[in-house]
Amino acid sequence: MKTLIRNPVIVTMNDHYEVIEKGSIAIDGDKLSYVGPVEWTPPGPFDRIVEGDRMIAMPGMVNAHCHSPANLVRGLFASRPLEIWRAYYRASLRDMRDEDFYASALLGGMEMLKSGATAVLDHFFGNQACRFMGAGAAIQAMRDLGLRHVVALTLSDKNYEETVPLGETASHLSEEIKSMSASEAKATRAWLEDCEEFIDTFHDPHKLTTCCPGPSAVQRCTDELLGGAAEIARKRKLPMHIHLAETKAQALMGKKLYGTSLLQHLASLGILGPNLSLAHSIWIEPADIELLAKSGATPVHNPASNLRLGSGLAPVRDFLFAGVRVALGTDGAASNDGQNMFDALRLVALIHNQAGSDFARWVTPSQALATATRNGARAFGLDAGVLAPGMTADLVLLRRDTPAFTPLNDAMRQLVFCESGRSVDCVIVNGEIVVERGRLTKVDENEVLTLATKARERLNPAIEREMTVARNLEPALGEMYFRVFQRGD
Ligand SMILES: [Zn+2]
Repeated sequence: MKTLIRNPVIVTMNDHYEVIEKGSIAIDGDKLSYVGPVEWTPPGPFDRIVEGDRMIAMPGMVNAHCHSPANLVRGLFASRPLEIWRAYYRASLRDMRDEDFYASALLGGMEMLKSGATAVLDHFFGNQACRFMGAGAAIQAMRDLGLRHVVALTLSDKNYEETVPLGETASHLSEEIKSMSASEAKATRAWLEDCEEFIDTFHDPHKLTTCCPGPSAVQRCTDELLGGAAEIARKRKLPMHIHLAETKAQALMGKKLYGTSLLQHLASLGILGPNLSLAHSIWIEPADIELLAKSGATPVHNPASNLRLGSGLAPVRDFLFAGVRVALGTDGAASNDGQNMFDALRLVALIHNQAGSDFARWVTPSQALATATRNGARAFGLDAGVLAPGMTADLVLLRRDTPAFTPLNDAMRQLVFCESGRSVDCVIVNGEIVVERGRLTKVDENEVLTLATKARERLNPAIEREMTVARNLEPALGEMYFRVFQRGD
């Protein structure tokens, strides 16, 4: 199938960040065959012509960190520090089954596509009672929608109490902690075998699926598991994804366990490289920034989630100044509470401007848009995130006759500061139209809402029960939180 998109303004996100005022885009199969000025458009013939006169074309965004099972609990939790919030969130997953993981991934995927994301990294943790914790059901949902997806299977082989600085708090918590550990930890070898089998079963880029290892976090894994996961990724030429230094308690745990920063520990294991992406990367030392720059690894910034959980502010300006490529994510809907990449884009361009700081280093609109497009694509080995010949045809057309783009003063700046996702008209993934006139083409939107509502209703008794257990943990975890900040131990 050959498609021509005629006359849009094109925000290419190529190496020169070129914006073409009156361009055209030709698509041949699943690849872009021409992106340039309209007067040099190849002659055709074309099977389909899309009139782009009143459109802006941009690369599809890459949501570089989320957890698809969280979509059913959006808005459910109070804002709390991560260590407390996580007890509630993990409790909410304990009764989920494949059909719930399917409904949840479908709901989040629908929101992403309709707001201009064409690819997502799902750092998947579900229910150990299901095969691959339910990740296969989430993959099916994203295939059904036509959303490109990288699914990093979450691995963790340590008991909960070894992964947080509980100190004297531990003694009040023993029963609850045992139940948390029992539902989460598994032996190292079993995890690595599961991960290989998961990749063998589902990895298939032709079906839009990349599978890879996703160790939960440095302090939650033994060195053997971290090394084994990195070896799987290296041998199969896959990305690897991990949470890094999201909270001060985690950074402190790194010092206790390794005597170094969490990132320096990863470097000492020989794991840092361009295929590694690190969600959050907030509690970072100056030497860590150099390590990131040298290794080509990608920190993934999740501004909404970091604000919601009060985790801290990632040093994004310092990363960018050092030449580190930063990617952007929404994080899961349990801590955000949406999956709209335009929200994340606006935040990354706003929250790092601080009075009195060097304004020459504030995040520019083109830097912000790079975090949402090309940087995430590169981290996951996808030929996407840039509109240029030879790249995969993953792109978004936005209407210009909306308040966000009227009058059209500066397409790049208006994408970052004015747009909310409401102008998204047409979304193309792998050369196929998956959103047309703002509606999904492959899945019935009402059906998605019905499935998600029903799943949430079914889960309600289990969620209520598990929330009571989590509530019992809150006072002690709160004590730990204040101890970490006040005494630093
Ligand atoms: Zn996360």
